Amino acid sequence: MNAYDDSNIFAKILRGEIPSTKVYEDADTLAFMDVMPQSPGHLLVVPKAASRNLLDAEPETLATLFPVVQKLARAAKEAFAADGIFIAQFNEAPAGQTVFHLHVHVIPRYDGIPLKPHGGGMEKPEILADHAAKLRAVLGA
Ligand code: 5GP
Repeated sequence: MNAYDDSNIFAKILRGEIPSTKVYEDADTLAFMDVMPQSPGHLLVVPKAASRNLLDAEPETLATLFPVVQKLARAAKEAFAADGIFIAQFNEAPAGQTVFHLHVHVIPRYDGIPLKPHGGGMEKPEILADHAAKLRAVLGA
């Protein structure tokens, strides 16, 4: 199994070394907007505990992570009036993983509207801030 490397970008976000557009935080989990959203409202849910992905994560990490994924999926459906919510999680580079700290994508979907490509263009910071505010408003945070 590949080793965890704490120089990855999400570890830096968790340590506060680089900024993110935060949506939700508790003792175990941080959620923030994806800088290259595949759909408006695309966010990432990240456990604070270190693991590369699902394959090396402790079951306890998954047990605290997934209720937050559900909470944010429900919030995203309401905040963005989505028809559905796509949950995605990639394990190692051949499966599409580019950042090697476990994270779950929460992506609003709409009837008949295709997703933008994974890792496509950067969104404007003010748009990400507006989307995070919409989510926080639904969460009551
Ligand atoms: P994955 O590892 O699941 O393939 O995707 C990593 C995701 O992180 C991508 O959707 C990408 O847009 C997003 N991402 C990459 N760098 C950053 C960053 O510095 N900040 C944020 N908020 N998202 C990032």
